[in-house]
Amino acid sequence: MSIASLAPDYIRAIMAYQPGKPISELAREMGIAEESIVKLASNENPLGMSVRARDAAITAIGEISRYPDGGAFALKKALCARFGVEPAQLVIGNGSNDILELASQAFLAPGLSAVYSRHAFAVYPLATNARGARGIEVAAKNFGHDLDAMAAAIEPQTRVVFIANPNNPTGTFVPGAELEAFLAEVPRHVLVVLDEAYTEYLAPEQRYDSIAWLARFPNLLVSRTFSKAYGLAGLRVGYAIAHPEVADLMNRVRQPFNVSSVALAAAEAALDDDEFLARSAEVNRRGMAQLVAAFRELGLEWIPSAGNFVTFKVGDAIGVNQALLRQGVIVRPIAAYGMPHWLRVSIGLPEENARFIEALRQALA
Ligand SMILES: *Cc1c(COP(=O)(O)O)cnc(C)c1O
Repeated sequence: MSIASLAPDYIRAIMAYQPGKPISELAREMGIAEESIVKLASNENPLGMSVRARDAAITAIGEISRYPDGGAFALKKALCARFGVEPAQLVIGNGSNDILELASQAFLAPGLSAVYSRHAFAVYPLATNARGARGIEVAAKNFGHDLDAMAAAIEPQTRVVFIANPNNPTGTFVPGAELEAFLAEVPRHVLVVLDEAYTEYLAPEQRYDSIAWLARFPNLLVSRTFSKAYGLAGLRVGYAIAHPEVADLMNRVRQPFNVSSVALAAAEAALDDDEFLARSAEVNRRGMAQLVAAFRELGLEWIPSAGNFVTFKVGDAIGVNQALLRQGVIVRPIAAYGMPHWLRVSIGLPEENARFIEALRQALA
């Protein structure tokens, strides 16, 4: 008898999340200098973090012998001021990945199910399967969420629907009006987890106010993160805004000190740095145009993206990825998302994008 056989079947069936290859790992494998490597694999902010966040983090390190404020009073206060919500509506997570896990922990169990789209964020099936719940994967429409099909897939045992908007890895975007219509249609026994990890990158005409919908839809949870546009991926902070009863349940099951003091301080300082957010969005907008122009020139198919990354079709994705790695460029293969012929590249600084484009040209030659 192996010790692993003692774990529930649904745990043993889980396939671990595959992260982007770290720079240090590629440097070791290829024997090349870390400084010469361009990593465009994890949708990180190429500008780094805001100066305000950096200063707050450095100051917070001085108090690191103390436990963090498990209630996250100061960060919650800042979030309430920014979004016009009450502290009781908030859950602070160790990254928004933690939020997705906490929602699953609070609402899923064996015998229940969650609905999500094909080609959607990999954590949805992981968080569902880890609770012994059944995942219902709905076919995608043009690589994005088919909300009508998702509504139709809901069954009496369904407790959670996950929606990423924009979606990762496809970058597809569902307009606010369609989401609102979907919420009106979803039965109230289903929690709709609206994962807005990239919402700060949306163009002005794409923006919608999901937080305002909370008053009408007690079964809505809005999930956001400091990892992407705020540039704090390594610190791990995200948050949920939801009905107080939903937030209360999630706060009961989370670890008492799930977010570090340094992370809390940096997030609070970063939150209102609108100049940094605007600059990040502008770098992204230009970088996206740079990459799309290259795909067009190279005759490659790509999926129009509302995020800080873009997914493009190369056919032999394994071979092209290897050729890029040999040139010190890290992008993300997405075979695990059911897209074995595609690669996802994050938008970098202009010179990083240029390095990627040149390496891609070589790889395809
Ligand atoms: C990156 C990402 C997240 C989670 O990131 P955290 O670092 O855990 O906040 C959540 N959802 C989507 C769709 C993402 O791409």
